[in-house]
Amino acid sequence: MLSDELGRDTAVIALGGGVVGDLAGFVAATFMRGVAYVQIPTSLLAMIDASIGGKTGVDTAAGKNLVGAFHQPSVVISDPDVLRTLPPAHLRAGLAEAIKHGVIADAAYFDEVAEVAPHMAAGGSGVDLASLVAGSVRIKAEVVAGDEREHGRRKILNFGHTVGHAIEAGSDYALLHGEAIAIGMVLEAQLGERIGVTAGDVTTRLRHVAERAGLPTSMPVGLSADEILKRTRTDKKARRGVVEYALPSFVGEMAGSTSGWGIAVDERDVRAVLG
Ligand SMILES: [Zn+2]
Repeated sequence: MLSDELGRDTAVIALGGGVVGDLAGFVAATFMRGVAYVQIPTSLLAMIDASIGGKTGVDTAAGKNLVGAFHQPSVVISDPDVLRTLPPAHLRAGLAEAIKHGVIADAAYFDEVAEVAPHMAAGGSGVDLASLVAGSVRIKAEVVAGDEREHGRRKILNFGHTVGHAIEAGSDYALLHGEAIAIGMVLEAQLGERIGVTAGDVTTRLRHVAERAGLPTSMPVGLSADEILKRTRTDKKARRGVVEYALPSFVGEMAGSTSGWGIAVDERDVRAVLG
């Protein structure tokens, strides 16, 4: 916490990964009804995703980020060299969000990420991390700038996260967020294919890139489809009991531009792809 010359608390500096940044951002959003804060993300996930867009929150027993606020940081300072000290599993997990950015908005970026995926799986040596971070930040910032409060297009950032969050919580957080999201994206792409909104090659391409990155792509052993289904119902994207999904049409383009970007899906279809 920083104070100004009059002793007023004026800023919170959030140094850390996604969870720390989210918590510090939430403190900044709510303390004295909001003080400025600076994000200094130290994980790939935080640099390319959590630190951009002003979503802050705390995880509770009921689920991830159900308590939160929108509060934009004054500054985000990312030093990609810090990522060289990350455990490889965390580097790979962060890449899941970069894969997502490619799918939702930029096919060329998706190909770039596919290119670096095997190197990330091996610890990231030789990868231009600054360019990777810049690519994702550009996409996420562009989406958020057009819809800060998530009334419309910002929903596309939820791709992979409805099923992914359910799997993450179902694993008791034994899976890293990015690992759960990788599985969630593959299953949600399958769901999109099943209901006829997603092109046939999306699941295959997604699975291929995730595998190259060393990320899991199928339901973890020991998790039941019914439990995951139940958890999707408490997802904050559920509206009046119907769970809405953000689903791709193609790699680089999301479906639902004429229906507010959220697609209501019959639970029987979700059940079918969960196996
Ligand atoms: Zn995420």
